[in-house]
Amino acid sequence: MTMRSINPATGETLSIFDTWDEVHLSGVLQSCAEIRPQWSATPIQERCDLMRNAARVLRQRRDELATTITREMGKRIADARAEVGKCADVCEYYAEMGPDFLADELIESDASRSLVAYQPMGVVLAVMPWNFPLWQVFRFAAPSLVAGNVGLLKHASNVPQCALAIEDVFREAGFPENVFRSLMIPASMVAGVIGDNRVHAVTLTGSEPAGVSVASQAGKSLKKSVLELGGSDAFIVLEDADLEHTIKQAVSSRFLNTGQSCIAAKRFIVVEKVAEEFVERFRNAVAELKPGDPMDENTRLAPMARHDLRDELHKQVLTSLQAGAVAVIGCAPESHPGAYYQASILDHVKPGISAYDEELFGPVAIVIRAKDEADAIQIANSSRFGLGGSVWTQDSERGERVARQLECGCAFVNGMVKSDPRLPFGGVKASGYGRELSRHGIREFVNAKTIWIR
Ligand code: NAP
Repeated sequence: MTMRSINPATGETLSIFDTWDEVHLSGVLQSCAEIRPQWSATPIQERCDLMRNAARVLRQRRDELATTITREMGKRIADARAEVGKCADVCEYYAEMGPDFLADELIESDASRSLVAYQPMGVVLAVMPWNFPLWQVFRFAAPSLVAGNVGLLKHASNVPQCALAIEDVFREAGFPENVFRSLMIPASMVAGVIGDNRVHAVTLTGSEPAGVSVASQAGKSLKKSVLELGGSDAFIVLEDADLEHTIKQAVSSRFLNTGQSCIAAKRFIVVEKVAEEFVERFRNAVAELKPGDPMDENTRLAPMARHDLRDELHKQVLTSLQAGAVAVIGCAPESHPGAYYQASILDHVKPGISAYDEELFGPVAIVIRAKDEADAIQIANSSRFGLGGSVWTQDSERGERVARQLECGCAFVNGMVKSDPRLPFGGVKASGYGRELSRHGIREFVNAKTIWIR
């Protein structure tokens, strides 16, 4: 079996890698198991120093890594550079804050001394997606390695060069061999890795079906799991929103990364009073998003990451149009070669239409009209997903009141949903469970161990 790295802007095959067989995989798992006691016993300050080195390597190699990302999954080069910078930030954040987050907590009890010690779980497998091929991995790896775990990466099959580049960054930073390994395996071999006695926990960022499969396997082997799954974030526009600002942010929030972000605004829920004006101005702004070469600094709309994903998105759009949604702009693949899809808006989307019920993972915004604030909240919460959401109003107290009523992992007022190393990130409902980033993220893969002494 092979994995292909294909440039989605041109269809060109960049490289082909052989996937590992069971024997090769088992050898690597054994090496990781052997380094584990030494790594977990390494003083946390030394682990943090290595993580600072990783940040330095990322910054030094920023342009080269960004080019690999852009050529392999198609995002705009400026966005790829920003992604590498954010990876360096998260490494520095955990290098700085890790010792505090994992410090012993003294607790008064009937003992003469009792405390909670945070100890690494062991070898943790991360199954990761292609959409932010470095960021998704570093936001797992930085806290996990600082905590003393060994990291295994099963990256998405369309980004093998990114997978190998990440392993190389840790090697260059001076991490001992096998503290972080990229497994060149297909999805069909993941269940075996989760079930292996040398592996202690698993985290997956990806689609719902992949989440169900990984969580079932983790359950069968009684291993801890964290799931970061899909989203269909609501972007609620109330009648008192500053439309100028709101529309600029609406465009970024939906079309960043060609719409392939779990926390992209996917459902624009607009109260009727301002819906016509919002749709017209949103359409005019979206019309500016012309496709181009992602390596060109001036390109506004990059290709999607794969042709099959583009075709799948178009099917969802066609089904939605047949069911009564109205095309405002776009709604077709670009004539350009490469996996391009037009920046699109579907209006009058209602329950029962696939665009209402499913996640659209590409450059298609949907507009749902709401009677008023209460109706908008009810529509927002009617989704099976619960990753993020945002509210747009000039009354920040009203915004906070609405934000508190949204069923999701994070709710923003007058700002687009984003991840930040300092703030917990994760979902509820079909968007998954567990948290990444912040103090919460580093505590997912540690044993909160009680020590009681008389
Ligand atoms: P995907 O198809 O689920 O793939 C994600 C990863 O899971 C890949 O490494 C994939 O390997 C692997 N995988 C797929 N099926 C599997 C299975 N049955 N067992 C074990 N592993 C399996 O998702 P995607 O299309 O790459 O990414 C898009 C999805 O991820 C969207 O739903 C998006 O919302 C979600 N996402 C969520 C977050 C978050 O933080 N919540 C962040 C980014 C993306 P192969 O590539 O080899 O198939």
